[in-house]
Amino acid sequence: DFMKKKTNEPILEYRKGSKERQDLESALAYYSKNITDVPLRIGDKKITNKLEKKQVIPSDHRSTLARYTHATGEQIQEAIDVALQSRAAWERKPLKERAEILLRAADLAAGKYRMKLNAATMLGQGKNIIQAEIDAACELIDFFRFNAAFALELEHYEPISTKITKNTMQFRGMEGFVAAIAPFNFTAIGGNLPTAPALMGNVSLWKPSDTAVLSNYLIYELLEEAGMSSGILSFLPSDGPVFGDVITSSPHLSAVNFTGSVPTFKTIWRKVAENLDNYVTFPKLIGECGGKNFHFVHPSAHIDAVAAGTARSAWEYSGQKCSACSRVYAPKSIWPKIQAKIEEIHKEIKLGDVRDGSVFLSAVIDDKAFARLKSYIDFAKTGADGAKIVLGGSYDDSTGYFIQPTLITVTNPNSKLLTEEMFGPVVTVYVYEDSKVDEVLASVKDATPYGLTGAVFSQDKEFLYKARDVLRDAVGNMYLNDKSTGSIVGQQPFGGARMSGTNDKAGGPHYGLRWTSPLTIKETS
Ligand code: GLU
Repeated sequence: DFMKKKTNEPILEYRKGSKERQDLESALAYYSKNITDVPLRIGDKKITNKLEKKQVIPSDHRSTLARYTHATGEQIQEAIDVALQSRAAWERKPLKERAEILLRAADLAAGKYRMKLNAATMLGQGKNIIQAEIDAACELIDFFRFNAAFALELEHYEPISTKITKNTMQFRGMEGFVAAIAPFNFTAIGGNLPTAPALMGNVSLWKPSDTAVLSNYLIYELLEEAGMSSGILSFLPSDGPVFGDVITSSPHLSAVNFTGSVPTFKTIWRKVAENLDNYVTFPKLIGECGGKNFHFVHPSAHIDAVAAGTARSAWEYSGQKCSACSRVYAPKSIWPKIQAKIEEIHKEIKLGDVRDGSVFLSAVIDDKAFARLKSYIDFAKTGADGAKIVLGGSYDDSTGYFIQPTLITVTNPNSKLLTEEMFGPVVTVYVYEDSKVDEVLASVKDATPYGLTGAVFSQDKEFLYKARDVLRDAVGNMYLNDKSTGSIVGQQPFGGARMSGTNDKAGGPHYGLRWTSPLTIKETS
């Protein structure tokens, strides 16, 4: 059905008293009471000894959600060997069969696993109900279904043939193995990074984030249930540098599918460069990294749209989406009105434990994130760069890693608060003189090395389209009169330009192409 009419998975509302809300509450109660063991998975081995590491609940950090361990270098090497042995049979399977596995996985995520995925994402990664639903359920399901559909469309491509030559293309999997290095902030990305290459006939080593092991392992389990045979995907929580060393020193690394920080992605490039003479094939390095995403506000902007969009983009999921708004350029003439409106919203939104169904945002992911955000807030408190904390500004890690939703204004346009990625619920505003609007607009792109998302708010259409053109090279995803977050698979293919990544557009029709080594055949009669 999906293949005939591509539609996004509908978002469940979880109204109080509804069946889905009750099911979710019981999944939350289950995972709150029971510590789950997350094994390593290598071929048909399920390794459960040791499990000395803990995934905790960020909003209640004395509670352990799951136990796991890090794969050793030898185990990662073993996973590479198993992957290489499993590759040929998997790669020769018709694409349709591999796609069917993903479609079955999508149905399992939509049904049997939905509440588990949401509960694990809420408790482990600090999302409220709706933020979990749009990620761990809807986006994950959409990735599986759309990738399958797009891959089948890709395969239909037929080169031109003539009377004497028959030209064909085969979209082969790549020779070697793919390393998928997943982030904590989207469960769906955890599922997409290893499976999009697998769909195209590759074998993947999947390194989940330590702070998302439970939700990611649930995806592994549902893929297994959907018929993904062992050896195609191995599941390897590991120490980043150990994993990085083993994969980049294997001659058979065919690609890295990475989502995470810019410095880590650069480290992978450097390690690949060091090993360049040893590879069988040039590894493809695909990365989705950070951002310093902007909202640019024109004097004609709709005040309520700016205020609501900024509060949501900056503070939803505690600003831990790569796409979150973290710098705002607003004109002096309307800023007081926008600020007043954001203040009203700020009063309404609640920060607290994820199990409290009324929270707008919860704790940040871990102690490192807490310390980083605290130091930016403390910097603002000194008043350097003309910084003033307008909203929020407090923090407390006694029970969970809580950072209040915070809004800071600065007068120095080069302040680090306006240029460095903070990755938390802290947004910095630069209020500009209305007469300088064009000058400020022109400065937005090179204010940071990033280029992920950005939004322009303007009811003056002429300015709106001018800004679109001025900012053309500043982002991978641009929003006109809407917030900078919330891309939807199949609607806004997602990826960042410049130092935000290789811009390969997850959730778009061309993503699958990155995971193939196409073979062109000319047959002459
Ligand atoms: N696609 C998500 C959004 O548009 C962000 C993904 C990410 O954080 O990597 O909000």
